[in-house]
Amino acid sequence: MSTWKSNDIFDRMGKMNKTIIVAGGAGFVGSHLCKALMEKGNRVVCFDNLSTGDKRNIQEFLQNDNFTFVLGDVADPTAYSSIENLEIDEIYHLASPASVTYITEYPVEAAEANGSGTKNLLEIAKKKNARLLFASSSEAYGDPKEHPQKETYWGNVNSVGVRSGYDEGKRFGEALCMAYHREFGVEVRIVRIFNTYGPNSSINDTRVIPQFVTQALRGESLTTHGDGTQTRSFCYVSDMVSGFMKMMRSSETGPINMGNPDEYKIIDVAKKILSATGSASQIEFVSRPKDDPAVRRPDISLANEKLNWSPGVTFDDGLEKTITYFKSILDKKMILNIGKTRFSESS
Ligand code: NAD
Repeated sequence: MSTWKSNDIFDRMGKMNKTIIVAGGAGFVGSHLCKALMEKGNRVVCFDNLSTGDKRNIQEFLQNDNFTFVLGDVADPTAYSSIENLEIDEIYHLASPASVTYITEYPVEAAEANGSGTKNLLEIAKKKNARLLFASSSEAYGDPKEHPQKETYWGNVNSVGVRSGYDEGKRFGEALCMAYHREFGVEVRIVRIFNTYGPNSSINDTRVIPQFVTQALRGESLTTHGDGTQTRSFCYVSDMVSGFMKMMRSSETGPINMGNPDEYKIIDVAKKILSATGSASQIEFVSRPKDDPAVRRPDISLANEKLNWSPGVTFDDGLEKTITYFKSILDKKMILNIGKTRFSESS
């Protein structure tokens, strides 16, 4: 399914600087990436099935001649007809659900987006002689036995666990990238993303930062898994996006870790968010999800050495921006809900 026919796209795009597909561009990270790429003068085709993304994330781009939205599923090989005739320079493949709740509820979708979806996009890259960056995940390391995680570590993934559709999907996506690179010479870039946060993440996302922030702002308990001593490391989205663009321009195939090595216990994150929001919410301890990694911290020396990349936004600054974003969304939602109540009362 698509919103534009190929000729429509040509008409809208005219002569181009670089034409870049951002698969998953209506999602949290993807929407920031679309914006950053257009700011550099590129033409962006955002390809998304809006399963976990939100058109509101790209609303402001829809009037921009350098931006086209295509509604489609990356795993569906027939969904690409509208971009068949385009010359494409680069493809960023971010199209995959990512929150634990979603991937455990829809494991086939997660596996397909990273399996068939990656294959379909690699076929386009091969045909168009385009470069493809695959958004892999720290989940490729599973519940790690090595800490911090280096790219040379092969991981500890439960291949039949509740998360395996996603985790193994990412690993298979990486394998496919390398297979297309070795067999057909396709230029691939593999990035292993560690926890990333910031504006545009969904209010329904159950990943820890959006969940804690929305719970704190709503005055609900912050649901902390286990005793909260498990650790995560959080990277602000603008740092991740600049890393992606550096990686795409580089001659590195990867995999390369990207994330912020500042590591926090989840319980300390909960306390930090309570204090930053001024919330009187309580912390509630709930059971740990299955196969939840005990620790997560990237070793980013490779990204530092090869790409001269390291994150620059502190957790405090990033949290402040994220809280401001969620406040505005929740305020708008309240206004909408009030509006709805009034409407239903009077009808
Ligand atoms: P997100 O859910 O906000 O964005 C994913 C986007 O992909 C959404 O817009 C969704 O609608 C779209 N999508 C999902 N399946 C699709 C399909 N089959 N076809 C077309 N579009 C599809 O998540 P995000 O946090 O922005 O993640 C982006 C990418 O980065 C994902 O591949 C994710 O696995 C990876 N990643 C993210 C993190 C993180 O902390 N944010 C960590 C590791 C890896």
